[in-house]
Amino acid sequence: MLLMVDVVEIRGVLSMRNRKPRTDPKSVTNAIRLWSRAGPFDPRNREQCCIWQGHTTAGGYGMFTLQNGKKSYAHIFSYEFANDVKVPKGMVVRHVCPGANGPQRNCIRPDHLVCGTYKENSADTLADLNSSRTKKLEKISNQDAKAIRHLYKTERFSQGSISEFFFGTRRFQPVIQRIVSGLTYRRAGGPLVKKGRGKVPERRNEKN
Ligand SMILES: [Zn+2]
Repeated sequence: MLLMVDVVEIRGVLSMRNRKPRTDPKSVTNAIRLWSRAGPFDPRNREQCCIWQGHTTAGGYGMFTLQNGKKSYAHIFSYEFANDVKVPKGMVVRHVCPGANGPQRNCIRPDHLVCGTYKENSADTLADLNSSRTKKLEKISNQDAKAIRHLYKTERFSQGSISEFFFGTRRFQPVIQRIVSGLTYRRAGGPLVKKGRGKVPERRNEKN
């Protein structure tokens, strides 16, 4: 057994020089293509942009090549991927970055992007976003619920800190708990986590 391993290792070393890259570029998914070029940002800070590190067009928008070889604007793909929708024809994805520098064309942070018409002026949207900062409990949308689930799934944030991020206080941790375990916002999508170490909670209306 040991000998077998050695032979494999020696072969590996011999073929190191002209071996093909381990990952076939064509097998890299669109999401990885996008997020591997995304700049760092703190999701707890709503104002921070996620700046595209890849190629940008003359107009300042991020652009990359999809798995199928076609090109896509990075912000449009980011919006469509995060919201699991296609932008309808005639509509555009607009930047509503709330930071001091205003909208950044090379930002791909999903919650800085909205779908709208060409005619809509950005002032309206900025006002919307600003008012959503003082979001009350009942204003959690399906999209927020999905974002909460993704945040929690990263295992980098506690339910308390997610509550603080969304509501400005940790005391709504139980609300977060119900969202991430799928008890509320059942249709919002996003990854659910098991409650505690036990089973996924059963639906109340289900009969055994
Ligand atoms: Zn932004």
